[in-house]
Amino acid sequence: MTITFLGTGTSQGVPIIACDCSVCRSADSRDKRLRSSILIENEGETYVVDTGPDFRQQMLRTAVKRLDAVIYTHEHRDHIAGLDDLRAFNFVMKRPIDIYADDQVQEAIRSREYPYIFSKEQYPGIPEIRMHRVGTEPFTIGKSTFTPIQVMHFKLPVMAYRIKNFTYITDANFISEEEQEKIKGSEIIVLNALRREHHLSHFSFREALALIEKWNPKEAYFTHISHQLGKHAEVEKELPAFVRLAYDGLVLKC
Ligand SMILES: [Zn+2]
Ligand SMILES: [Zn+2]
Ligand SMILES: [Zn+2]
Repeated sequence: MTITFLGTGTSQGVPIIACDCSVCRSADSRDKRLRSSILIENEGETYVVDTGPDFRQQMLRTAVKRLDAVIYTHEHRDHIAGLDDLRAFNFVMKRPIDIYADDQVQEAIRSREYPYIFSKEQYPGIPEIRMHRVGTEPFTIGKSTFTPIQVMHFKLPVMAYRIKNFTYITDANFISEEEQEKIKGSEIIVLNALRREHHLSHFSFREALALIEKWNPKEAYFTHISHQLGKHAEVEKELPAFVRLAYDGLVLKC
């Protein structure tokens, strides 16, 4: 299985529009972060987790030619704003794109974000999607089994996912002991670490590091990073060798 980080930035991305801080002005390509998303390639099939506002650019940049399904974590705009561009894959795949989302994300897509996709009088060229419900039980797409893990993003439940020994967690600030049991034993864990200061709905750098040290995987990567965390090269010096900051374009084999 191959994981490609399509984006590793927080909701505004890095650099932030009109920001002159040293991180936003950094020449290091690892300090340029599109909105958080990953590409999963397993057994000849391709999936993305989330389609944020940079989805089109991410598909072009990574030259993705087929997409079998999209799996959503939650309905915040930085995770679903690119859904309309799935229509490019309708042309390529010649079928509706399968979308996996929990009830609350499905409701947001249907009623608030993309009602035109479901209207009776359909405008030509709109995306064609097929919704599948994510609950608490593992589900299989093609030859890949996904175990949903419910994490909390302040008051909003968010889905994290485990596929084999890889676990992807974004937009969390609390994970119950019960849900943590589903994470344990993962060899590679991706976890959100927004910035140094405490935040209402995201793990801070220290909080994320404490959890990773508790779980003790072989490798861990931080994502959903704000310009407030600092420059990639400098922040990495503070981390133990098995924990790295993710960056856009990073590829993991697992
Ligand atoms: Zn987010
Ligand atoms: Zn900045
Ligand atoms: Zn969020």
